[in-house]
Amino acid sequence: MSKRDYYEVLGVSQDVDGTALKKAYRKLALKYHPDRNPEDQEAAEEKLKEINEAFSVLSDSDRRARYDRFGHDGVGDLGGFGGFGNVNDLFQDLFGSIFGDSFRGSRGPARGQDLLMEEELTFEEAALGTEKTLEVPYHITCDTCDGSGAEKGSKPEACSVCRGNGEVRMQQGFFTMVRTCSNCGGSGQVIPNPCKACKGAGLQEEFSEVEVNIPPGAYEGLRIRLRGKGELSPNGGPPGDLYILIRVEEHPLFERDGDNVICEIPISFIQAAMGSRIDVPTIHGMTSMKIPAGTQPGTVFRLKKKGIPRLNGPGMGDQKVRVMVEVPKSLNKEQRELLEKFEEISGDSKDCNPKRHSFLEKVKGFFHMEE
Ligand SMILES: [Zn+2]
Ligand SMILES: [Zn+2]
Repeated sequence: MSKRDYYEVLGVSQDVDGTALKKAYRKLALKYHPDRNPEDQEAAEEKLKEINEAFSVLSDSDRRARYDRFGHDGVGDLGGFGGFGNVNDLFQDLFGSIFGDSFRGSRGPARGQDLLMEEELTFEEAALGTEKTLEVPYHITCDTCDGSGAEKGSKPEACSVCRGNGEVRMQQGFFTMVRTCSNCGGSGQVIPNPCKACKGAGLQEEFSEVEVNIPPGAYEGLRIRLRGKGELSPNGGPPGDLYILIRVEEHPLFERDGDNVICEIPISFIQAAMGSRIDVPTIHGMTSMKIPAGTQPGTVFRLKKKGIPRLNGPGMGDQKVRVMVEVPKSLNKEQRELLEKFEEISGDSKDCNPKRHSFLEKVKGFFHMEE
């Protein structure tokens, strides 16, 4: 995936000064704040992420100089910031608490982890939608240590790195960055003698049943996000999200092409020549289709609206039926005699075999001219 130019992202010129840069950033960050875009929070978050990344580079004179010389390669993926969470800190530093705690920053108790689960669906389940009940692992307070994570008779101690604050301040250019302490994970405590049952995590694994609505039109590789269905936070923060990664089994009859379904159907050369009505399987059930007389091998017929419903929208794909004309592999005596009789009366006639007829005409003409 190619990244957009950071100056372009922030809508500023290459010679922008620090004040104008900050102003441009502030304007965009406010505009795309998820709280201000309730109808499309995810898109706003994505946008904000891009804006934050651009600002984090351009607001740092060293990194900006590297970016000017070497482009995105010069500053690496998020460069020295190491992830979105820390850029959130920057965001919170700039805006203080104007949005309260609703913006999910990494300051304070850490958010529960996101979970990713794969779910394999049949071709029809993905195409038509279905409901699934998933066994999702999550963690609750450990019974043995009551969640303290400490072995009986011992206690957690204040973290020496952050002195029990749960966060560390550091200078980054002209900003003070605040980040969650990595030594204690933001809890401000460490456990010298961890509980054996939970290895000090204070949590034990349980499973919950989560109902997932798979929408019609789901496809291989689709990720469905269930907000707040991920891991619980170990220290009182909001839970993470659960992502369901959709896998789709192959189907013996159908192939998918966007919203369309492709199905190959073999027919006999007699059916192709004389025309016929054939039964066609679709994901919506059996239907019947007319094959006109004189149908050629590989002809594709289209059954309107017999395909896959469009994901999250109106409309329905078609089914494409490709007919494969089969030539008999072996003939008994009676069949052979009948076909010989047929050949006798039709031969290379223009009506029966127009292509062969014209080919033979060309061959004749070619050798005539060579003489
Ligand atoms: Zn425990
Ligand atoms: Zn700490």
